[in-house]
Amino acid sequence: MFKKILIANRGEIALRIQRACRELGVKSVVVYSEADRDAKYVKLADEAVCIGPASSAQSYLSMPAIIATAEVTDAEAIHPGYGFLSENSDFAERVERSGFTFIGPTPENIRTMGDKVSAKQAMIKAGVPCVPGSEGALPDDPKEIVRIARAVGYPVIIKAAGGGGGRGMRVVHTEAALVNAVQTTKAEAAAAFGNPQVYMEKFLEHPRHVEIQVLADSHKNAVWLGERDCSMQRRHQKIIEEAPAPGIPRRLIERVGDRCAAACKKMGYRGAGTFEFLYENGEFYFIEMNTRVQVEHPVTEMVTGIDIVQMQIRIAAGEKLPFTQRNITMRGHSIECRINAEDPVKFIPSPGRITMWHPPGGPGVRVDSHAYTNYFVPPNYDSMIGKLIVHGDTREQALARMRIALSETVVEGIQTNIPLHRELMADAKFIEGGTDIHYLEQWMAAHKR
Ligand code: ADP
Repeated sequence: MFKKILIANRGEIALRIQRACRELGVKSVVVYSEADRDAKYVKLADEAVCIGPASSAQSYLSMPAIIATAEVTDAEAIHPGYGFLSENSDFAERVERSGFTFIGPTPENIRTMGDKVSAKQAMIKAGVPCVPGSEGALPDDPKEIVRIARAVGYPVIIKAAGGGGGRGMRVVHTEAALVNAVQTTKAEAAAAFGNPQVYMEKFLEHPRHVEIQVLADSHKNAVWLGERDCSMQRRHQKIIEEAPAPGIPRRLIERVGDRCAAACKKMGYRGAGTFEFLYENGEFYFIEMNTRVQVEHPVTEMVTGIDIVQMQIRIAAGEKLPFTQRNITMRGHSIECRINAEDPVKFIPSPGRITMWHPPGGPGVRVDSHAYTNYFVPPNYDSMIGKLIVHGDTREQALARMRIALSETVVEGIQTNIPLHRELMADAKFIEGGTDIHYLEQWMAAHKR
């Protein structure tokens, strides 16, 4: 096991990784920007090094600053968390070339999965079901594009190979709009992602977002840890996640989960990862793979009892997975609400000083947050300030516990989306389970938001 790990991230995930290190008896070095100087996890870390100003480009995205800090502090490995440099294959490569262990997959795996066209090709080869669409990137010839769209069937969605974060996509309903839409998306993709390649998929009208968590070691073992339903989204940003996914037959999930684990073995994948699928009419369609720990990993931890962040570290240290697929069982139901510092109606970020922070407690309640009374939420980063996670024997019990936990939570001084979560936990359709990815936006429109 490593003696010391550098945490190249901030906020709740920096604290989460720090906790995993502590339990493993590993010392942690936290890097921070000037905007995060007063964060509690910075003070609690074994070592903390300021690496630059508030701007991410000069701090959390600065590869030289992070690697130099690992050198001067004698850290042996770097955990990238999520966001920032976590899915940057060049960073993973530079970390390894500088003699440190990157806590994550190989740079090759990150690169393949970071390009959605190559990711999809790898999945087709590995027998993972994908959304029907173009074979690889679209050609230039308009006649060919029209022919492909006819074969796929309207509506179609044009997606950038280098896209991410819900950007670089365009839905096309008619042949008349097709060629123009492809050209516009290409131009946008070239400007935004430095890669003009686009591809085509059938646009699914009412899918749910269901993803499979995997863990693979460097000894050719791979397992999947059940699924998460993350259909509650606004502008492709998840706000509520749960495990298991309500109402989907276990045999269907087992079939796709086994395919994901097999794909990991075939690719020589290492570490934690997530296969994201759209689920519609009893079928799973792969859309992308995330090669890092996800924000929503706690719901899987709650139902499986497996510490995913500790497993990432143990795998990076060369350990074998301590369990096989047969040992993995799911117990009960877990729900996570992302707590964002934002207006609950208009979603405008609401940074500033938290004058009162009172987290909930009680059976089956977990709070992953770096916030505290008198904490200043900096305006420079993502608005998520914490995650409220509950576990119950049944979905009904988990829902009840979430309602109680939300009613106990007090955050003053800034606005949060807690009122929105309270309403959604009382919504008849959400309580029923199985709402699709458009549900939240439709709900907001119906509630004149
Ligand atoms: P990103 O990397 O930008 O998140 P994804 O490929 O994961 O891109 O897609 C983001 C979201 O876009 C999905 O969660 C879904 O809401 C929508 N989407 C993507 N592909 C399709 C599709 N073929 N049909 C319907 N919706 C889609």
